[in-house]
Parts: sequence; structure tokens; C-alpha cells
Amino acid sequence: MSKIIIKNGTLVTSEKTFESDILISNGLIIKISESISENGAEIIDATGKYIFPGAIDAHVHFALPTPAGNSSDDFFTGSKAAVSGGTTTFIDFVTPQKGESLLDAFDKRLKEAENSIIDFGLHSSITEFTKTTLDEMLLCADEKGTPSFKTYLAYKGKNGVGIDDDDFLKVLDSAAKIGALVTVHAEQGDLINFLRQKYVSEGRTSPEYHPKSRPPEAEADAVNRAITFAKFTECPLYFVHVSTKQSLQLIAKAQQNGQKVFAETCPHYLVLDETVYNQKFEKSAPYVLSPPIRHKHHQKNIWKALTDNVIQVAATDHCPFNLKTQKELGRHDFTKIPNGAGSVEFRLSLLYTYGVLEGKISINQFVDMCSTQPAKIFGLYPKKGDLKSGFDADIVIWNPETTRILSASDQFQNCDSNIYEGISVKGSAETVIANGKVLFSNGKLFDETIRGKYIFRERMRF
Ligand SMILES: [Zn+2]
Repeated sequence: MSKIIIKNGTLVTSEKTFESDILISNGLIIKISESISENGAEIIDATGKYIFPGAIDAHVHFALPTPAGNSSDDFFTGSKAAVSGGTTTFIDFVTPQKGESLLDAFDKRLKEAENSIIDFGLHSSITEFTKTTLDEMLLCADEKGTPSFKTYLAYKGKNGVGIDDDDFLKVLDSAAKIGALVTVHAEQGDLINFLRQKYVSEGRTSPEYHPKSRPPEAEADAVNRAITFAKFTECPLYFVHVSTKQSLQLIAKAQQNGQKVFAETCPHYLVLDETVYNQKFEKSAPYVLSPPIRHKHHQKNIWKALTDNVIQVAATDHCPFNLKTQKELGRHDFTKIPNGAGSVEFRLSLLYTYGVLEGKISINQFVDMCSTQPAKIFGLYPKKGDLKSGFDADIVIWNPETTRILSASDQFQNCDSNIYEGISVKGSAETVIANGKVLFSNGKLFDETIRGKYIFRERMRF
């Protein structure tokens, strides 16, 4: 396999920033030191550029089945979008049907994911607790490499993925016994279902009722309950897509009390606010995602939580749906709009522009939340998430000087809209190397025939 030397770049890890060369061979980082030379190696000159470890998106939904059809990115288009933005690994989800075993659902999902052009992992979702669930969870962790289990406290109902409190407690108890992590979509589903039905019955059917039916209190209530349940089951928790000040206060308190509680947020909660819903259907429907985009005053609390390490991970919850064929199904009833939007290719540019360049987070914290922390929390470390010899050669060469206005017209994600339409960003992934191969450079994918591999994740001990 060919060798590559990246010369004269400024390396940025979660801990330090320094000038060095990097030698890559056989898909791995072989050496990091000054002035490397090696016969026959391809040289990439990175003068004036930053070098980051490939970013990891711990929360994406490619080809997610819904009543409105699958989310519009499959594993091929979604992974292309990811790599174009500097993400070299993602973690998607196995979501079993009711009655289906976690293991069968895993095998099926792995097959669907085989078109990914980059490496990936899978979390297993638990949508009910049966007599066999504990054994299946153990096998998932031991034999399938999914030591993280997703639970939804919203989306309750006959065909929903949400679980009730008694099943949720059993999942937490089981995960604690087998040394696994439980990730939580924290919104109080019964309150939300009640409000959705109430608004629709009153003829209040436009997207502006989406955030009204999922208030901050519904999130805080679920966060509080999950923290209480986790305390008595001694289970480590990871809250996905935290979006409110109240939730963050509860999470910070649990962390101070010594509970193992991690948190994630997403770029849309940091750069957009709830006024996006006060527009006509075509403009507002793309923002129907859950939890909803919040009032602007929450943003400074989320940035502060990232700075203070109350939130460890910035992921995307990437889950786009086409406006014309999918979101359109809810034109006369907001509860029928499929929930989700795409961010996987914009995460780094948005956090770099609105976080690093505005002085809200340091560039090392940026690398930490986008790469190192997700690797450590989800069992990808010490293969991924850092620039060290022996790690996978997943590397982003970042040009800090480029500017771009985000738009659906030139995006890689397979979607006819873009929730960041018209927003300008500075800095972009100029060259992206995954497993030692240049996959993306100067706005173009080099080789679409490359395939990533499934990463068997080890249990982490927290
Ligand atoms: Zn999600």
C-alpha cells in the first residue's frame, strides 16, 4: 500500500496544537515528527492548514424507515456527505420491529450499511423489554460490537419506538449488569402525544405547533426521570441531542453528584432558533425535527455547557427527508411530517465558524467534542479519535481560509432542502483521508468504489 507524508501542517488534538509531519502507511499513522522523509512516499503539503483527527458522528440515521418512507440519505449518499465535511466514522442505529430479536435486526442493518464509503458502528435500539432482551443485549455487546443501547422516551404508541418507564428501568438495570451504556432520547412522550392530539383536534395543524407540542418542560421531565432511574440502577447514561437550559442544569447536577452522565448536542440547536417555525409550510417543514429548534436564549447555555464539559459530544442526528415527497405529507397535519433534517456534512464548518472563530470554544475542544470524546465514550478509542502513531489514518486537512454559503444547490446529502440555507461558514475540509486513502479533496470525491468497514466496538468502563 502506498505511503503518504503530510508535511508542514499544524496538528490539532484534544490536548495540544503543534507543527509536525505525519507518515501514513498501510492505513495507519506510522510516525508523527518533524521533517519526515521516506523514499517513494506521496507528499501532501499542508502549509497553512490544520490537521485534525477524522471526525466521528455518533448519531446519524441513514435509511431510517418511517411511514413517510426512508430518510432520504442511504448509507452510500450519507457517507459521501459525511466525508465531504470531514467526518470519517459514524454510528447509526439498529431498530428492531416489535417481536424481532436484536440480533436478527442487527444482521439486517449491517447488510443495509455495506455501501458506506467510510467506517461505521451501530447502536442497538431497544423498543420493548421481553423475556429474552437481557440475553440479547449481552450477545449484542459480546458478539456484535454494540455495547451502547438507544432508548426513546418519546414516540410512544402501538407502532412507535418509545418505551414505558417499567421497560426503561429494566433496560437500565440490564445495561448496568453487563457493563453497557444507555443512550436516551429524553422527551416525555405521553405529554407530547396529548398536546399533538389536542392541537390537531383544535385545527391547529401548521408546523408552528410542532415546537409548541414539544415544550422544554417535556425534555426536562424526561431528563430528570432518566437521571433518577439511572441513579438507582447504577447505569451510565448518555443523553442524545440535548437542547434546553433546564436539561443542562439537571445533567450538570447529576455529574456533580458523581453519576456517570454524558451529553450530546447538535449544530441546529446552536445556530438556529425557533423563529424558523414562523414561516409558510415550505419554509418551516424542513425544521420539523425533535426535540424542536428552541428559543434563542437556550443557545448560550448550550455553548457554555460545551466549554464546561457538561456536554462532551457534538453529533448531528442527521436524518433528512425530502420536502416535496416526504415532508409534504404533513401539509395539513404537522404530526404527519417526518421528523428530521440533515447536518452530517456541515457539522465541522458550523462549529468551527460559530464556536472556534467566535471564541466560544477552543480549537482543541472542537476536536475533542467532534472526534476524541465520541471515540472514547463509544469504544472506538484507541483506534480512532486522535492523531497518534498506531491509530487509523483518518485525517482531515482543514483549510481555515475558505468561505462558503451553505445551500441545497451544492450539497452532497440527498435532500431537496437544507436547514442551513444561506448561512455562511468559514473553513472547510480540504482533503479527507480515511484508512490511509485520500477519499475527498478540493470539493470532489476521489473514489466512490472504496467501502468502509463495520467497527466492532469494545465496552468502555466508566
Ligand atoms: Zn436520532
